[in-house]
Amino acid sequence: MPFIIDQNQCVQCGSCIGNCPNRAIVRRGAEVIITDMCCDCGTCIPYCGVSAIARGKEKVEFGNTQLDAALKKKLSLNRDIVAMKFADKAPEGVSSEDGLNFWCHICGDVFEGSGIPLFFTAKNSMCGGSIALGLGARSVSREDVLTVMQVVAGDGGYFANNELFTQARSQFPKYPRMYGGIIIGSLAQMKMPDMILIPLNGKQMCMVSTAYSFETGEIITGNAGGGTCLGTVTLPFLANKPVFTCGDHGGRLHMRLRDEEILACIPYRLVPGLVKNLDKTIYNQE
Ligand code: SF4
Ligand code: SF4
Repeated sequence: MPFIIDQNQCVQCGSCIGNCPNRAIVRRGAEVIITDMCCDCGTCIPYCGVSAIARGKEKVEFGNTQLDAALKKKLSLNRDIVAMKFADKAPEGVSSEDGLNFWCHICGDVFEGSGIPLFFTAKNSMCGGSIALGLGARSVSREDVLTVMQVVAGDGGYFANNELFTQARSQFPKYPRMYGGIIIGSLAQMKMPDMILIPLNGKQMCMVSTAYSFETGEIITGNAGGGTCLGTVTLPFLANKPVFTCGDHGGRLHMRLRDEEILACIPYRLVPGLVKNLDKTIYNQE
């Protein structure tokens, strides 16, 4: 428990509770305490008027290789975990994708073990997914867009017509161009990413959601009926909350997901707490 509340100082006003981005501060009986979901950010300190919050003796373990190994072991995963980090340019030592590709296809490669981090931008995006990722759009011809729309809308597509496609997309937040690109690689090979993406079966998803709810009291919500990239990545990034999705037909194909798998996208700063809490829930009684 990295940050702690001095119970002799705390007046239980609750001002810190709603100002913790990780939902790590909770009431337990008469006390307000900080749980294992704390990520050591220090955001709560200025919200306490009586200086009851202080840094604890331990620090949160953010080691990517340790967290990768712990998630794989505790969830019995047999796939690699995708890590993603927004950046305006490729960091030193990270290659840029040089052709056209799909975000979801690169994630599929990582799930299958090809985890060297790669910098992906709107210029590399084969589809409109880069807009959903907050990276802006590649310039394409009118004919190309019309061809895509023929696949998306109408019988045998995703929506009965263009209007319904627009209506469905409007239910996701609109993102301006936020970053120049996104680094995608395996968690084992990427330090301090923004988010992780894991293919999970029903039981594994239930274990993750139980571990998240255990000390936050919050549920994890899902998105279905839109693109795989729309339902993940930026939503958890902006809200600092995990989400799950079944993805869409094309995204599932590119990711090479098994029929039983859905996706969980989790902000990285929630992962250390989740890993600790996996040991505390009902699943640990099995
Ligand atoms: S996660 Fe940040 S804001 Fe929340 S309790 Fe820990 S240090 Fe405070
Ligand atoms: S803001 Fe300070 S006094 Fe109020 S509940 Fe939080 S720790 Fe206690």
